[in-house]
Amino acid sequence: MTTFNDARVRKANDRPVNTTGRYVLYWMQMYRRLTHNHALDYAIGMARHFKRPLVVYEGLKLNYPWACARFHQFMLEGMRENHQAAKAMGVNYWPFVETPGDPGRGLVRKLAGEACVVVTDDYPQFIVPAQIRAVAGSVEVSVVAVDGNGVVPLSLIGPPTTTAAHLRPKLHKLFPTAWQHRAEAEPDVGGLKGKGISPPFDPWTPPKDLPAFVKSLPVDQTVPAVSGVVGGPTEGRRLLAAFVADKLDRYADDRSQPDDPDRNPASGLSFHLHYGHLSMDEVVAAALGKKWKPDLINPKTRNKDDYFCRDPNVNGFLDEAITWRDVGYQWHFARRGQPNNTQVTTPKRRTVHYRSWQEESELPAFNFESFDFSPLLSGGTLAGVLPEWALATLKKHAKDKREHVYELEQFESATTHDELWNAAQRELVATGRVHNYMRMLWGKKVLEWSPNPEAAYRVLEHLNNKYAIDGRDPNSYTGILWCFGLFDRPWPPERKVFGSVRFMSSGNTAKKFKLAGYTEYIRRLPSVTDVRAGKTAVKKAGTLFDS
Ligand SMILES: Cc1cc2nc3c(=O)[nH]c(=O)nc-3n(C[C@H](O)[C@H](O)[C@H](O)COP(=O)(O)OP(=O)(O)OC[C@H]3O[C@@H](n4cnc5c(N)ncnc54)[C@H](O)[C@@H]3O)c2cc1C
Repeated sequence: MTTFNDARVRKANDRPVNTTGRYVLYWMQMYRRLTHNHALDYAIGMARHFKRPLVVYEGLKLNYPWACARFHQFMLEGMRENHQAAKAMGVNYWPFVETPGDPGRGLVRKLAGEACVVVTDDYPQFIVPAQIRAVAGSVEVSVVAVDGNGVVPLSLIGPPTTTAAHLRPKLHKLFPTAWQHRAEAEPDVGGLKGKGISPPFDPWTPPKDLPAFVKSLPVDQTVPAVSGVVGGPTEGRRLLAAFVADKLDRYADDRSQPDDPDRNPASGLSFHLHYGHLSMDEVVAAALGKKWKPDLINPKTRNKDDYFCRDPNVNGFLDEAITWRDVGYQWHFARRGQPNNTQVTTPKRRTVHYRSWQEESELPAFNFESFDFSPLLSGGTLAGVLPEWALATLKKHAKDKREHVYELEQFESATTHDELWNAAQRELVATGRVHNYMRMLWGKKVLEWSPNPEAAYRVLEHLNNKYAIDGRDPNSYTGILWCFGLFDRPWPPERKVFGSVRFMSSGNTAKKFKLAGYTEYIRRLPSVTDVRAGKTAVKKAGTLFDS
């Protein structure tokens, strides 16, 4: 019998299932949670079908691009929680954390060797698609990738959409059925065989002092953990509940106002969504509230503020969380495997596998395997990714004289002539996030102050992915490319450098918003130099002029 959620399931190779395998392996890569997880549900179904134990393998290696203390700590906080949750559920959870003395190369292949089938997360960005391809191509057993990215299965949406306005009606049409087929909130693992089987490696035991453990690892320590930011599903749910209780009712009016994130009503959920510590099902359910019923949906509307219910705050938030998030995911998902996306080969790595990414790579080295990760890998150009009108106008203005041109280090150290831009960069370095409106301005100005659009793209990809906790996401790439015209339309009048690509300026931002709250917040953050030295303390509000 076929079901709606079959649309989420993709065979990553054509190998058979191994009916004599010891277990069903769920290789958890990006949906790092044990509830509300379609890939986990599928693996449980397989384990029941084959009457085999389920093994959940969650790994963390040292040499993923931009590996640093900030991201490691966030993920390990999640793994520490999954460790406990798996124990309570009675699931075999095999966590592996690479250390210099214990390299993880080939581990998934080894585990696959004893599996009936390998189930994994069909996440369409960063190292995940390449990892799936590599494992699927080198094992003898069936590898199945399951799309648990959002509420609507991405395969049902069709070819890549060019604007959010085109995607919105498709999502609205699919939403009511998809909502009936959400992942299990409390997956039933009762009756699964073989609890307590042991892994063929030393599983990670969460240390008492997690920050000290992270500091001992050869990952970039100049990007330290952010004080007050905690990874894991419990913290994600706490933030979600606080957002719904205290901020959602101001979302539509105040979200764009740059401010201290304590005051600004944006949810701040993108960190937990990126690492899969929170599922979109949970976020949507919380925003709709317990009293919401599907008959509140207005299927005929073309108005984004009137679809889910009659509250513009809820509709506004869900339009970002569903339409805007999915436009990026779907763009990657649907482009994957297109002929021009398969010709890029992975640069060869040196063979010392425990060394950090920074030690192994030239900077910026985009160690991605396929065009759907990084448009500029191996000398690629923006031609493969931008709409024609944007390419044409940027090309026409390629030789325009730039009033300011900065190198990566000047951008990174927040030492441009523009104090508002420097503020956004300081926020990114110190806190791993940038206020949404400021992030757009931040990207636009790098385009304006770089020698050419390709150079600007490289700076943005590097800085966003190096510091942002939600970086290395499909929306990192589409967010950056939006600054160059992706998903947008021409905005006359034609200007220097931008041509008809939408222009933004710090002057206009200062006219449009009251910025005192934001700039006061930024002044309380540690400087770029302090952050790089591991000093992350944020001054309390009201203490700036105390000494
Ligand atoms: C240059 C640039 C770089 C970006 N890089 C990233 C990135 O690395 N990772 C990332 O997740 N987003 C990125 N975005 C999109 C957006 O800035 C963030 O998703 C948003 O600011 C996250 O904050 P929040 O969780 O408080 O959002 P909220 O306003 O609370 O929105 C809720 C959720 O909706 C989604 N969302 C909101 N706005 C957007 C948007 N414009 N595009 C896509 N999804 C959206 C996110 O999942 C977000 O968590 C980028 C945008 C730009 C212009």
